[in-house]
Amino acid sequence: MGYIELNVLNNETTTVAMGIDLGTTNSLAALWQDGRPVVIKPDGKNGKIPSVVQFPGPNAIPLVGGKALEQAVVDPRNTIFSIKRLMGRGLADVQDDLAAFPFPVTENVRGLLQIDVHGKPMTPQEISSLILMRVHDLACRAMSGNEVVKAVITVPAYFDEPQRQATRDAARLAGIEVLRIINEPTAASLAYGLDRRGEGTVVVYDLGGGTFDVSVLRIEDGVFRVLATSGDTHLGGDDLDRALIDMIRGELSEQLGPDELNDPAFLQAAKLAAEKCKVELSAHPRADLHLMVPDRRVSFRRTISREDFEAAIAPLVERTLDACRLALSDAGLTNSDIDEVVMVGGSTRVPAVLKRVEEFFGRKPHTELNPDEVVALGAAVQAHVLTGGNRDILLMDVIPLSLGLETMGGAVDKLITRNSTIPCQSTEGFTTHVDNQTGIDFNVVQGERELASDCRSLGRFKLTGIPPMPAGMPKIAVRFHVDADGLLTVSAKDESSGATASIEIQPMHGLTDAEVEGMLEASFANAQADFDARRVVDLKAELETMLRVTEKHLTTAREHLDPESLTDLEDAVRSGKHAMTLNDPREIQTVRDGFERATLPLAALLMDSVAKSALAGKKLDEV
Ligand code: ADP
Ligand code: MG
Repeated sequence: MGYIELNVLNNETTTVAMGIDLGTTNSLAALWQDGRPVVIKPDGKNGKIPSVVQFPGPNAIPLVGGKALEQAVVDPRNTIFSIKRLMGRGLADVQDDLAAFPFPVTENVRGLLQIDVHGKPMTPQEISSLILMRVHDLACRAMSGNEVVKAVITVPAYFDEPQRQATRDAARLAGIEVLRIINEPTAASLAYGLDRRGEGTVVVYDLGGGTFDVSVLRIEDGVFRVLATSGDTHLGGDDLDRALIDMIRGELSEQLGPDELNDPAFLQAAKLAAEKCKVELSAHPRADLHLMVPDRRVSFRRTISREDFEAAIAPLVERTLDACRLALSDAGLTNSDIDEVVMVGGSTRVPAVLKRVEEFFGRKPHTELNPDEVVALGAAVQAHVLTGGNRDILLMDVIPLSLGLETMGGAVDKLITRNSTIPCQSTEGFTTHVDNQTGIDFNVVQGERELASDCRSLGRFKLTGIPPMPAGMPKIAVRFHVDADGLLTVSAKDESSGATASIEIQPMHGLTDAEVEGMLEASFANAQADFDARRVVDLKAELETMLRVTEKHLTTAREHLDPESLTDLEDAVRSGKHAMTLNDPREIQTVRDGFERATLPLAALLMDSVAKSALAGKKLDEV
């Protein structure tokens, strides 16, 4: 007896959650497929999208990724890169970065950073959302039929609340629901399944395009705690490229003057050439550094040996090891306490880097997975677990940096210490410090430093209505509460009067909910405008062809057409010409459709004519 297989019909699309590595230099996404995380690689390419956005004109659609990066040479002013450095920050925080940006960064009255793009101010969140949209788009295409709208997004372990919030806002603007923000080193460890070991201490060495991060993590029962982080926010692959350019600078300066050598377009072209040579040197003992700037008539080629390159970058590699030493000592550990070392970031493909890290820690680092994919892969593992997938780990979110209040004299009183698992809360008593003080200003700060001025202020609020009393008498209870979504609420209550005040932390340098909503609405409105603009162009092109073909045949066909059709057609030509001056796609569409109807008798006539056989199967506008 045979069995009939029954297919259970399911009309609903399944929701797939992606993991996104939103990097300073490159971004990429991974999805859980057939029991493992897989990087999304459109057309079999490597899947990395340069984190670059270029704005061709005031109303033009922005380019994102590789196409935008190409424009950096010709249009540095409108090609925005390294936007991650500006996320959730204020102008004072990013002074070191500004000189390297060929685009102007300013701060608005609310302390929000903005970049002027063809006269329109754009926030880092908006620019970052364009990158996320592209990543999202690729994921949707890879999973056609399924919905991919949820994501786990990674950030550096040292990112504070405003920087994490800015990342969440960027995702929201891109139409992505953030399941969780996790630390990049945690994601890398997850990709290697290190959560499966009961306990252990892991060092994650991450040398990317422009940044170096080293993190010491402690794993216990699936909980990752950051014991220490260190690094250098201006040390990465870009510096290795620069080292290569410096190797040939002497020869270059024979052909170019100092102005030309420092021209942004030249520097960008040189950087791309150096990067290409560097990548080749990771695989071969020698490689050509070939530099060509056509409009400057500069063409330069020199063969570089891996040995010479390694000598040039040795001081940079040593600097990363200094940071490793610092992280270990901050964690109170030595090399021998480390159980595993994980390599992350494209620049760890440089053989000399791997060799020195191995020597330093006295063990073979994990390199089995692609160092530039491992963070996205780990994020996809976490996304899979959070959407109900199987992998028996309990991964908890922790507070990345301590939360506290500024006290008298500018010190910090920490109420919730770093690495506390969320949700969590803590209450402490405070009092007044002058007689008859009826109000207290609270400054909520985040950071590990002792002075409030060295930490990040997350927000301020005021408690008023304290009855006049001698200093030290009032009892004020302050409660910090972080809910399961990571949202911090701070409340203060005066016990004698019952007066209360509270603040839900809306980070400084962050967007308000209303602003995010406003931007979303604007983007929908613009999406319609962009769409309309394209439609108008397409319709006019079509109409123009129809007009040209009709006029061409009308002279000879005129006498064979019946008078009514002829009048109709002449009217149609007139309104068609008028429609070429219109800008509303709907109006143009109506004229175009009417035109098409009016040309039917002419088309029939042409089909009957001697050209009938040659024209068979062709449409009028193809004649
Ligand atoms: P980020 O995390 O900063 O976004 P990535 O981890 O993607 O960056 O690393 C980008 C850097 O890795 C770039 O500087 C790039 O030149 C470098 N890189 C990529 N592949 C190689 C390679 N094969 N050899 C050397 N460097 C590489
Ligand atoms: Mg990275």
